[in-house]
Amino acid sequence: MGVIQEIHRISREAADANGGGRLTSVTVAVGELSAIEPALLAFAWEAITTGGPDAGSRLEVDWRPARQLCETCGEVAERAPGTWLRLCPRCDLPLRIEGGDGLDVLHVDITQEAP
Ligand SMILES: [Zn+2]
Repeated sequence: MGVIQEIHRISREAADANGGGRLTSVTVAVGELSAIEPALLAFAWEAITTGGPDAGSRLEVDWRPARQLCETCGEVAERAPGTWLRLCPRCDLPLRIEGGDGLDVLHVDITQEAP
């Protein structure tokens, strides 16, 4: 739950820096390697905002998959989500991983209207 509190804190700070108001939606980038389950994140958001001024706001998740790259062939598209290949299926070279890490608040929508 620490992660969702952090997202909410950052979103509130962004809203308050823009004259306050209620949050209507917050967009976060979630990397595949962050070990965060988007569905659980949305559920936790609902739990943390219910009963407060930001009740009814939505948490949108912008999923950022990691990519596996081969030095010779480029991106390896054969990987199924959530699984990793050890070697390139085309040339057997070791693969490296790029992107897909971290968690980032991308966008915060606010309204000045009363609920
Ligand atoms: Zn290759």
